[in-house]
Amino acid sequence: MAKLSFETLSFKQEQDCLVITLLQHFQTKIPLEELNALSPFNIINPHTLEFTKLPQEKAQQKFLFLFEKYLPDLTTKLTGNKAIYIHKNSGIPLIGNIAFGIVYRNSSIIEIKPVTSCNLDCIYCSISEGLSSKKTDFVIEKDYLLEELNKLLYFINEPVEIHVGVQGEPFLYADMENLLNDLNKIKQITTISIDTNCTLLSKDILDRLSKNEKLQFNISLDALDETLAKKIAGAKTYNLNQVKEQISYAAEKFKVIVAPVLMTKINEQEMEKIILFIKSLNHQPTLGIQNFLIYKTGRNPAKSLPWPEFYTLLDQLEKKHHIKLKLSKEDFSIRKTKDLPKPFKEGDILTATLKCPDRFPNTCIAVAKNRDISIPNCMFQKEKKVKIKIGRDKHNIFTGNIIK
Ligand code: SF4
Repeated sequence: MAKLSFETLSFKQEQDCLVITLLQHFQTKIPLEELNALSPFNIINPHTLEFTKLPQEKAQQKFLFLFEKYLPDLTTKLTGNKAIYIHKNSGIPLIGNIAFGIVYRNSSIIEIKPVTSCNLDCIYCSISEGLSSKKTDFVIEKDYLLEELNKLLYFINEPVEIHVGVQGEPFLYADMENLLNDLNKIKQITTISIDTNCTLLSKDILDRLSKNEKLQFNISLDALDETLAKKIAGAKTYNLNQVKEQISYAAEKFKVIVAPVLMTKINEQEMEKIILFIKSLNHQPTLGIQNFLIYKTGRNPAKSLPWPEFYTLLDQLEKKHHIKLKLSKEDFSIRKTKDLPKPFKEGDILTATLKCPDRFPNTCIAVAKNRDISIPNCMFQKEKKVKIKIGRDKHNIFTGNIIK
């Protein structure tokens, strides 16, 4: 008899399948027929399986083999989109892709991206993320992310800020609290900032995180009219009052920046209401109104305000309400740090191995020299060797095109 327990996996039997949930938001299924062929089994509790006719080691080995077999069927529960689990043995490096892993721009702010996907569907989302997204998602094993981050920190060898800036909502990463706690223990990290839409935060979560003195929140809030707020969030479930409560509570415990996106003819009239709300709080967060910018891959419901007009408007609001609204580089204290060597540069021709689909349809991630390379117009074929020409190498984010 063998008992297999997993912190990050949970199990549920459904008709002829064992449904496996990975980190709460991702799911795959193993046919019961294949599991029963190993041995009769029971679900002892949501995280534990019992195989009645297998010794421990064999059960572990055989179950993990089946799990690996069905990992390519992993989907994001929120959207049903394909999802890729990146773990220590996946053969997928954490540097090279803009959407996941580690992005180091040779500055004292390192971005980490443990997950993609979002529970909202904002009308202005610069990466078209959210409930209507059809992109492939990524979720990373926490310990793998920390291991690779530690290697980079050792290389940089000076104090840094970690910015959790995911393509989506970071608190959809079920290991987020553990990750933040682990980051907090690393002396070299002086600040941990995280962008969130605030909808998944609660007083309990904020209380648990409050021991983390390095943590800062950047929170979106785009309207105080409830109907408009739901419309902008693109989700009927958006609960404005709950978001306001969490902003107020978070500001008592952490440094908080509230960052509304100003869209002409959509929420200009909301900016003064937001200023008054922020000023009404006992612990006033910083307010950083942002100009809506048009992005090629984003949803673009408005025109950007010309910069002179935008700054004139901020000047007027600052004077009227006696509040600072313009955030500058100094507010984020970014310094230049050591350049991370690039294993290849734009124009190089090399052979790489296809490892998984990339975010957009018909795109792949190829791997060479411990870097990911995004390849457009590419049909995925696992482990296929491809000859590519590097098209972009800036900040160790790579794209390449297949050459025949
Ligand atoms: S919360 Fe952020 S990531 Fe999610 S849809 Fe809105 S803008 Fe995009």
